[in-house]
Amino acid sequence: MAVSSGKASRNDPDGFLYVPLGGTGEIGMNFNLYACDGAWLAVDCGMGFAGPEAPEAELLLADPAFIVARREALRGLVITHAHEDHIGGVARLWPQLRCPIYATPFTAALLRRKLNEAGLGREVKLQVVAPGGGFEIAPFGLRFIRMTHSTPEAQALAITTSYGTVLHTGDWKFDPHPLIGALTDEAALAALGDAGVLAMISDSTNATVDGHSGSERDVKKSLNALVNDLPGRIAITCFASNIARVSSVVEAGVAAGRHVALVGRSLGNYVAAAQEAGYLQHLPDFIPEEDIGAIPEENLLLLVTGSQGEPRSAMARIAADTHRHAVLGEGDTAIFSSRMIPGNEKAIAAVQDALVRRGVDVITDEDELTHVSGHPARDELCKLYKLVRPRYLVPTHGEWRHLSAQALLAEEEGLTAIRLENGDMLRLAPGVPEVIDSVPTGRLAVDGTNIVPLKGGIMSARRRMLFNGVVVGSAAVDADGRVIGEARISAPGLFESPDRLQRELEAEFGQLLSELPATTRREDAAFTEAACTILRRIVGKRFGKRPIVEAHVIRL
Ligand SMILES: [Zn+2]
Repeated sequence: MAVSSGKASRNDPDGFLYVPLGGTGEIGMNFNLYACDGAWLAVDCGMGFAGPEAPEAELLLADPAFIVARREALRGLVITHAHEDHIGGVARLWPQLRCPIYATPFTAALLRRKLNEAGLGREVKLQVVAPGGGFEIAPFGLRFIRMTHSTPEAQALAITTSYGTVLHTGDWKFDPHPLIGALTDEAALAALGDAGVLAMISDSTNATVDGHSGSERDVKKSLNALVNDLPGRIAITCFASNIARVSSVVEAGVAAGRHVALVGRSLGNYVAAAQEAGYLQHLPDFIPEEDIGAIPEENLLLLVTGSQGEPRSAMARIAADTHRHAVLGEGDTAIFSSRMIPGNEKAIAAVQDALVRRGVDVITDEDELTHVSGHPARDELCKLYKLVRPRYLVPTHGEWRHLSAQALLAEEEGLTAIRLENGDMLRLAPGVPEVIDSVPTGRLAVDGTNIVPLKGGIMSARRRMLFNGVVVGSAAVDADGRVIGEARISAPGLFESPDRLQRELEAEFGQLLSELPATTRREDAAFTEAACTILRRIVGKRFGKRPIVEAHVIRL
């Protein structure tokens, strides 16, 4: 199949197109594109954790190059909800996209914080749309449909063009008691189905899970009972974005006569954004972190960040006994009100281990009902199929086994499933849907304040440094290229400095430099090149490794 060059949008195919740039066959980085007769619309712009397959990077983004080349034709970016795998790329990639952004109040409140932090607050046109609201980004007629999920104001997006309507589900579940925010708007979904839906682009996260995902209300009851019965200090960790859960934890504490402290920065951010959007209006005052020590143990409940074992998070610091204010020990309890995101198992186990070693009782969702998923299990998927009755079902949002499980389930339910990969250009209409092209995709690594290609030179050098180290050699030379004084070598990660081995290598380096032909030594570029070759050889011989080498020949 031909790969598109970065051609101008006027050459893009006509019709109603769907192109996932990220989020299909992987976790995170959700980045979806729709086109209608050459005009483009983006839905979500997320960020993913790199995990063990890319140890040189921490955070990943989908490469937007394809749509950046069509920026003039990009009419807008719609955000379905406030999770990082849907909004985490916005502040970093918007400078390349430069289109208006549409989001509900809570999502917009969080996004505004991120954009302000990135210094983009004034530049970005951020349009707030009410949950369930209709709006237009011509030629796309758009309607949000309220869905329940594990963060407030999750919206499915109905996208209508002259060719028909697509329902992009975003992340969702059927929670009969979400505690915060509206129920999934089943009437709107059914009405959409009655009017006819061409295709549904559908969340696959829990397509391998039988039954129903469960309700936030059940978690609340369970947490209430636990907190009520437990002696000593209690620390509970959950995703900061799960505002209903945050509320449940605080209410459980209050009901048990405990003062609550929020420990960790992201909790404060999410709680503030939620309050800005009108949620969590009736929470008690929180105990400031520095006053935690003054509260009797049995009157204290800590709501802390770090459910995924993040090494700098509050729970990890408490486990290591390096937190400035919060302490847990013998007779205390830590409750993990969360699931393990795949890839984080070892980090979470390390934190839980450290807690247990300190005598802390650890309770997870394997022991008690401390968590329910925010994504639909199979019964919920089937219920949505029956409401919406799409002609075609495109699984997205999940790894391959999840996408495949949803495709098979949809087919069992009588729908026609279309399996896509990132970069596939699916023409939904006119005619029978088919993949007509494959557009360039890729991964970008967030590297400090830079964004660099994961497959590019910088990250491959980082990968090599990680496993093979880096060696820097330097020598001052005179006009004829004779070494003045001693040559130097440093190699952090290969040997401690200074040590005997280092001095031996430096002596060998200086000796070999002086044995180079005089013509090489007189010419800077050739001398530097030859110095690198010498370094590679002597380090290879001593360590059996092929590190990155760099030589500095300084002519005095
Ligand atoms: Zn989500």
